[in-house]
Amino acid sequence: MRLSRTLSMTLLLVLMVALLPASANTLNVLMYHHVANDTPPATSTRVDVFRDHLDYLDENHEVVDLVWALERLQAGESIPDNAVALTFDDAYINVYDTAWPMMQEYDFPFTVFVATQPVDQGSRIVIQWDQLREMHEEGVRLLNHSHGHEYMVRYDAYDDTWREEVIETVETAQRRLTEELGEEPPKIFAYPYGEYNDLLRDIMEDLGYISMGQHSGGIADFSDWQALPRFAAGGTAANLDTLKVKLQSRPLPVEFPLPEQVTNDRRPVLEARLLDNDDVRWDALNCFTGAGTPIPFSIDGGVLTAQTEEDFRDGRNRYNCTAPARSGGFYWLSRQWLVNQGPADY
Ligand SMILES: [Zn+2]
Repeated sequence: MRLSRTLSMTLLLVLMVALLPASANTLNVLMYHHVANDTPPATSTRVDVFRDHLDYLDENHEVVDLVWALERLQAGESIPDNAVALTFDDAYINVYDTAWPMMQEYDFPFTVFVATQPVDQGSRIVIQWDQLREMHEEGVRLLNHSHGHEYMVRYDAYDDTWREEVIETVETAQRRLTEELGEEPPKIFAYPYGEYNDLLRDIMEDLGYISMGQHSGGIADFSDWQALPRFAAGGTAANLDTLKVKLQSRPLPVEFPLPEQVTNDRRPVLEARLLDNDDVRWDALNCFTGAGTPIPFSIDGGVLTAQTEEDFRDGRNRYNCTAPARSGGFYWLSRQWLVNQGPADY
């Protein structure tokens, strides 16, 4: 009797686990700049709103260390459900003064992407080296955001000179962080302005860096590790109601097997190979531009092909595709294109 009860309990547990949606094993990353009430609104999260974010994350998500989570995903190891990592670009002083003490209350790990030249120059708006050392000693991740925060892909010619310059800004920042912190940070890079093209992503891969952009979406083992997405959490994207929805999304399971994305095309073609996943409602997929205009697409032979009908404007443009999940929530894909990347002053 006791044995059979144990057996039925075991069977029940096995059945319950089998019925649960497969563990998504995905990571959503939030990107902040300023946490302050008196900085440019487009890149700022107000202090009271930031407090609301932290409360919400504390109640509903598992805030994890970015480096730890990326290493585990790359190695095919599991991370907690509802995992979220917090990142702050540019090392603004209000992250030290305001955001850090608040995150200490919640014991949340976080990452700051540092452009090292403004720190070397003693700019008053960024965190100074002695303060960065203090953060480093307390376990804050300080990672590479280039030396001079240059536009890295708005050039006339992608020649050897360009190649040397982009390698130089990445390696200088890594060297300065290593010198000032006393140990080399993990090779994880955030593109200034989130801008990259295929040539730059390949250089970052050659240099051995994981690289992050500023396009929306989550991260999984099938992600492009030199074009990882993040969800903006400042400016209009600081709104907690819309942020909650984004945090419930998972990365759309696709791969980009076709290398050369044309980098200066005003109507680029998105081609992505669909990965097996019964949870995705492929029949209810939708694609749209960053401005919200629908993009026609087709799915044929396991390949998603989409192309905008409207010309992309100069600068950063995005394709977004979303599909509902059978288990609830939805899947999200975002892909960035830059157009007319000359050294113009935009
Ligand atoms: Zn930046």
